[in-house]
Amino acid sequence: MTTTAIPEIDDSRAAAAGLEPRTQLFIDGSFRDALGGARYTTENPATGRPLAEIALGGPADVDAAVAAARRAADDGRWSRVSPGDRKRILVRWADLIEAKGAELGLLETLDAGKPIADTVGLDVPETATCIRWHAEAADKLYGQVAPSPEGTVATITREPCGVVGAVIPWNYPAQMAAWKLGPALATGNTVVIKPASTTSLSLLRMAELASEAGLPDGVLNVVTGPGDAVGEAIGRHPDVDCVAFTGSTEVGRRFLTYAAETNLKRVLLELGGKSPQLVFPDATDLASIASNVASAVFWNMGENCSAGSRLIVHRSIKDRLLEAVSAELASWPVGDPLDPATRIGALINRGHMERVLGYIDAGRREGARVVTGGERILEETGGYFVPPTVFDGVRNDMTIAREEIFGPVLSVIEFDTEAEAVALANDTPYGLAASLYTDDLNVAHRVARDLKAGVVGVNAYSEGDMTTPFGGYKLSGFGGHDKSVHAHDQYTETKTIWITLKPAP
Ligand code: NAD
Repeated sequence: MTTTAIPEIDDSRAAAAGLEPRTQLFIDGSFRDALGGARYTTENPATGRPLAEIALGGPADVDAAVAAARRAADDGRWSRVSPGDRKRILVRWADLIEAKGAELGLLETLDAGKPIADTVGLDVPETATCIRWHAEAADKLYGQVAPSPEGTVATITREPCGVVGAVIPWNYPAQMAAWKLGPALATGNTVVIKPASTTSLSLLRMAELASEAGLPDGVLNVVTGPGDAVGEAIGRHPDVDCVAFTGSTEVGRRFLTYAAETNLKRVLLELGGKSPQLVFPDATDLASIASNVASAVFWNMGENCSAGSRLIVHRSIKDRLLEAVSAELASWPVGDPLDPATRIGALINRGHMERVLGYIDAGRREGARVVTGGERILEETGGYFVPPTVFDGVRNDMTIAREEIFGPVLSVIEFDTEAEAVALANDTPYGLAASLYTDDLNVAHRVARDLKAGVVGVNAYSEGDMTTPFGGYKLSGFGGHDKSVHAHDQYTETKTIWITLKPAP
């Protein structure tokens, strides 16, 4: 695996000035304008200035993309290619993504306000790793032979669903695409994917690289545009066999309605969260815990579905831990996402920033106390910057402890007993992730078992790696899991073939 050096700020600025990003729809192997010819303007969240003119797709464009994907699914140009050949093409694609790491990272930073150290150093390498991992699994998954009676043979095999629709959010544009595309393509499906309307650039470039890697035309199609036009058209399309969505719980619910009112397509939902971080009184090394706590909630400006936005800490160590968190935050520079030293970039757009600031106001109004942060900063840049904000004295029934803020806001809640900590952690409609810190193995096992969450990190902020499934309980998910071989299951149908043997003559 190659690694991409994180560019210096002047190099990034020069590269950004020279970029000519792809901005059209990608259908049947080529770029084209939307059928209506319209475009919309995106902006750079770090400056508030226009960034790109993106093709404004609509239902007719979705029809064209699904038709191309259907042809490619039905003629077997991908599904009937040997798994080894599928693997080779997808591995080549992952290699190209890695080779273009600096460019893809820059596109993500400009589009989403994410720090370049994260996009180039983490997001793009993880994107390549994800596609490579699923590609490598393509020729290693076996079917089964059932224990059927004498005189019969029964095989149980997995077949691609057919045409997969994917609708993804703006917080990790390339990675969220890879979480869908890796397993869907490795298992032989064709795909129509819609990026979030704010962040199309990296995915369009990835689609171009897929063609270059040898992916046949029509297998991967990208339709850009707004959710209520393009996303709904994918969700309702009668010729889409399965739809994989990552985004808010509110929009996720709609995909169930779309499917129920049309062709009962399979629906896979990865949704929001309000994840707890529990720190028990026996936990040692508060500096290291503080570093994990800060990463869990402030990484990616808190625009993270698994953000550990509720710190549930034992009363006896709360003050010391908060001091350690404040000390940790001193090494989290906020500012220009193109600066390789920046750890907190800009929020995605003005509307979202105002929403986050509204939650901060609600926290103050309801009686919580701001320890650090709490105001918009760097307004003179035109960008949407909110620094890490920590609220002490939070009760779990306050708005900031109940609703997904999707911004850099941490709520600190105290507990006295293990049972109270678990009850507080589970007292949420969400169940995506949780982490806990203790040096007592018994506490670790008991609490990890009792937490109602799809991913539990013990003594670390971790969502696992590509080998482990990612998905949520309760309002955090539905129908399947991203990552690992579990993701292959969700993009395949199970087929039984029962053969009755004729007796020997
Ligand atoms: P969102 O739900 O607003 O949008 C997600 C996608 O759905 C976008 O592509 C959007 O254009 C599209 N969409 C919007 N309205 C639609 C409609 N009516 N019909 C069909 N599609 C529509 O979410 P967002 O603001 O882009 O992302 C933030 C949310 O995503 C947060 O809730 C976060 O927790 C969640 N998220 C979850 C995971 C996970 O793996 N569980 C990962 C990342 C983000």
